[in-house]
Order: sequence, then C-alpha cells, then structure tokens
Amino acid sequence: ATPTSIMVGTGRGAEMGVLFRKGEALQALQSVKVVALDKTGTLTEGKPRLTDMALAPGFDRAAVLAVVAAVEAKSEHPIARAIVAAAEAEGLILPEVTAFDSVTGFGVMAAAGGQRVDVGADRYMVKLGLDVSGFGDTATRLGDEGKSPLYAAIDGKLAAIIAVADPIKETTPQAIQALHRLGLKVAMITGDNGRTANAIARQLGIDEVVAEVLPDGKVAAVKRLKALGALAYVGDGINDAPALAEADVGLAVGTGTDIAIEAADVVLMSGRLTAVSDAIALSKATMRNIR
Ligand code: ADP
Ligand code: MG
Repeated sequence: ATPTSIMVGTGRGAEMGVLFRKGEALQALQSVKVVALDKTGTLTEGKPRLTDMALAPGFDRAAVLAVVAAVEAKSEHPIARAIVAAAEAEGLILPEVTAFDSVTGFGVMAAAGGQRVDVGADRYMVKLGLDVSGFGDTATRLGDEGKSPLYAAIDGKLAAIIAVADPIKETTPQAIQALHRLGLKVAMITGDNGRTANAIARQLGIDEVVAEVLPDGKVAAVKRLKALGALAYVGDGINDAPALAEADVGLAVGTGTDIAIEAADVVLMSGRLTAVSDAIALSKATMRNIR
C-alpha cells in the first residue's frame, strides 16, 4: 500500500465519522470475513427499561421493587438504572442500603430495609441455591420477546421475576443488511440470557449467537469465531476491551467507554452502526486503488 492512498483513505474515513487509529487497520479491514458485535450498547441503545414484573406468592410489588431498586441504586449497570428509574416513576421511597456487593456477570446483593436482597440472572439464583423453575414459563415468554429476565430474592426466598428491554438502535437492521451484502458473516456476543439473545438475533438476521458469556469469556468467543475467518469485533464497554484487542480489527463505538476506545484500531465517531460496513467498503476501495 502506498502511503498516499492510505492517507487519502484515512481522510475519507474521517469525513464519514470513521477514525482509523492505525493505518494497518484500513488495510486489514478489507480481508475481514466475520463481524462480531457486542449486544448491549452496540446493537442496542444500552438504555433498558423495566417492562414486566411478576411476583412469587406472598410478595408485594411495591415492597419488592423498593428494596430491589435501593440495591440497584448502588450499581452502575444499565439494568440497574432501568430498575431505579421504574421505582422513581412510581414514587417509591428507597430504604437505606448496607453491605452492597456485586458479582460481575451474575448480579448484585445488599442489605436493604432490614432484609437481604439479591438481584441477578438465573445463574446467580442457581448459585444461591434457589430454584427459578416456578417462573419458567414466564422467563421463556419474556426471552422470546427479546426481553432480559432477572430475578430478585429477599431473605433467601425467590420473590420476583423482572424483565428489562433494551431498544435496538434505529440503524442496526440496515447495518446488518449492509454487512450481509458485503458477503460477511455476522455474530453477536453477549452476557445476556440465551433466549433473549436469540430472539434479538432472529429479528436482525444475525448468523451466529454466543450468549451468557461471562466477562472474561468474550475473548474466548472471539478466538473461536476467528476459525470462520478474519474477524472484526465491534464493542463499546469496559468488558469489550480484551475482545477488541484480540480481534484482527477492533472497532469501538465512539459513544462508549474510553477503555474500549483505547483498545480499538478504529473508532466509530457516532453510535451509527452503518459505519462498520462503510469502513469495510472504504478499505476495499482503498486497497483496490493501490493494486
Ligand atoms: P452484559 O453487558 O452483556 O449485560 P454483564 O456481564 O454486565 O453482561 O451482565 C451479565 C448478566 O448479569 C446480565 O444480563 C444480568 O442478567 C446480570 N447482571 C449483571 N449486573 C446486574 C445488576 N446490577 N442487576 C441485575 N442483574 C445484573
Ligand atoms: Mg456493551
């Protein structure tokens, strides 16, 4: 590649809102065969809302939501913000919280209003020795609707199933179609529930789903998907940084965290996901001009 054509390509990228942090990335993107994307904050807006809540017998909705929101007020997770916003919208008063702790990829726990409260994924409840099968049909339905089911336990008893839904970004369907038109395979990697991930993937026509991945599992998933061909990874979060570094080309969503941007070869200046196919098309055009 001539330095001039790389410079021209890099300049064209900047006009399109695609920042190449390294010239090699512009060259490498043309050979990509697989594009793997993080779900939350990349394919979706990363701004979930609470949509459903069902209670176990003997539990009161307002009382459960108040203690759950009190605990979640200590968490930075987007799910936590959705639950706190719902409690605030209902005018609930949140009790004091002590002994807050979080288990990454599982959930959160604390003492609130004199009770021990645990909130998290089904695997977290299983870890606590709780049986979630009573909510099985509800969880299945919520997952198939593309909503993420969570569970709350109070003093060691399963109290509620809560669902949050994160809207798909407006540009995502178009972006996936454009990647398919370029002949690429599209994969989703997420820590979220398998049913939820598959429902969203089906809606978007995504080819491969790797779900219920623990934070350190994203790299392993990228390594596995690399078997299908040269891989670009697109992500926005702190926990995407290792996967961005492991990919042949890492693309960070510019609206994401600084840590993801640091780890990436390419930065998409807006959250607009069609920039991914734009970047790949630009790479192909640039490299064609050179040969
Ligand atoms: P992702 O970014 O894909 O959601 P995480 O590793 O952050 O992956 O979380 C994985 C899962 O752990 C979530 O989908 C959720 O079920 C559970 N979880 C994590 N943090 C919380 C929290 N603050 N409240 C409830 N559940 C949580
Ligand atoms: Mg994310």
